[in-house]
Amino acid sequence: MDSHVPLTRCGALAAWAAFLPEVGVYACRRSYVGQPPHGGVSRLSAALRHRLLTEDEVISDTLRTYDFHAAGKWLQEVCWRRYWKGWLEMRPDVWTSWRRRVHELSVTLPADVMRRAWAVASGASGVACMDAIARELNSTGYLHNHARMWWASFWIHAEGLPWELGADWFFRQLLDADPASNTLSWRWVAGLQTVGKPYLVRLCNLEKYAGAALLADRRGSGRIADGAVQAAPVEEFAVTARGPLPGFATAFTPTGRRIGLWLHADDLLPERGPLENLKPVAIAGFSSTRSYQHFYKLGVQRINALHTVLGDGAARAGQHFQVPAHVGHDDDPVTGLMLWAGANSLDEVVAFAPTVGPVRDMVPRLQRHLVAANVRLTLIRRASDTHAFGLSSAGFFPFWKKMSRHLETPAASSGA
Ligand SMILES: Cc1cc2nc3c(=O)[nH]c(=O)nc-3n(C[C@H](O)[C@H](O)[C@H](O)COP(=O)(O)OP(=O)(O)OC[C@H]3O[C@@H](n4cnc5c(N)ncnc54)[C@H](O)[C@@H]3O)c2cc1C
Repeated sequence: MDSHVPLTRCGALAAWAAFLPEVGVYACRRSYVGQPPHGGVSRLSAALRHRLLTEDEVISDTLRTYDFHAAGKWLQEVCWRRYWKGWLEMRPDVWTSWRRRVHELSVTLPADVMRRAWAVASGASGVACMDAIARELNSTGYLHNHARMWWASFWIHAEGLPWELGADWFFRQLLDADPASNTLSWRWVAGLQTVGKPYLVRLCNLEKYAGAALLADRRGSGRIADGAVQAAPVEEFAVTARGPLPGFATAFTPTGRRIGLWLHADDLLPERGPLENLKPVAIAGFSSTRSYQHFYKLGVQRINALHTVLGDGAARAGQHFQVPAHVGHDDDPVTGLMLWAGANSLDEVVAFAPTVGPVRDMVPRLQRHLVAANVRLTLIRRASDTHAFGLSSAGFFPFWKKMSRHLETPAASSGA
């Protein structure tokens, strides 16, 4: 089954141009889960997650086409990703603790629970509509938001399985897998994010919003009948107290050194924004099948998607900066990066600051190696991210109140 999820900038721009005329009816169509490819939603999440297309571009195009209020729901949804990212930037232990729990559970859970988790993940729970959702995820790497909510709730509250392992399954399979949106949405469904308010799946909600095909087979649906699903107990393992937002420069000051541009999956649009005038002598990105499999057990289609988006970013960057762009598939990306830095006699490696997640986790080790080789690492964050992340300290609605005020200014429609 084709996911209809664009994984190149060119594909993302075309998909966005096709969806922009639909934005005016997004609010009334977005909750309906039809048949793939799900017409009421954009399917731009993988492109936005990897920044083949930026939120700033989407927001400014939207505001040039629509009045703020006519596109309010769409703009709000687009801003959720940055809100979740900003929230996690200030609470990195939520990510670290989730990864630790995934490991602990996978070695300590009884074999029968692991077997059940595998059956549910592979679409053999016995509840036909939930199994259809699992099969769609596993074959396309994409799910509609409402289907994600239903299935996550089924996993946690109907099956009584640990949310951490469900989130891990999504992280391995989704083409848009995003450390912040995924972890925090699963926590929200579990009742950890908005404490004491879990999301409970109900058959009547599927009857209202799911297409007929999803409910054609009613086997097992009594398990999600209205009132049948009760909140499962969940335990908080993470430190959720807010820390400071890590500081990064939002502009690059030229130093006259030999600079290499490091591309990674958190932002693949260096030709737009604070790095666009950089004068690198070399460009490289690293996409390691072995480390994706070893550390995260990613599925094949997710790994292929990561190779595709990085290849696309590198090709565009090579063209824009007019220098060779290398895509490394080294088993260890840090080793690959060090070899590249040495081969190009770099004095400085410049990159977008990775957000909390796998790339950020690599930075301390990379930094140590670079310092030992006398190479400076400079990480730059887009000013619009710094602004949005700074507003994400508490709940979404205070964030949105401040963000919407900003979006109503002329600067937002100019993309500034
Ligand atoms: C349990 C669960 C896990 C999720 N895991 C991920 C994930 O790993 N990666 C991911 O990108 N999204 C995740 N989401 C959020 C959301 O489901 C997807 O972003 C959305 O379904 C993507 O489809 P779309 O691009 O067609 O969305 P559209 O409805 O077209 O929305 C446009 C854009 O707005 C943003 N957006 C919309 N809804 C949300 C949301 N609830 N949270 C954050 N951003 C949103 C996305 O960037 C999306 O591309 C998860 C949601 C749940 C409930």
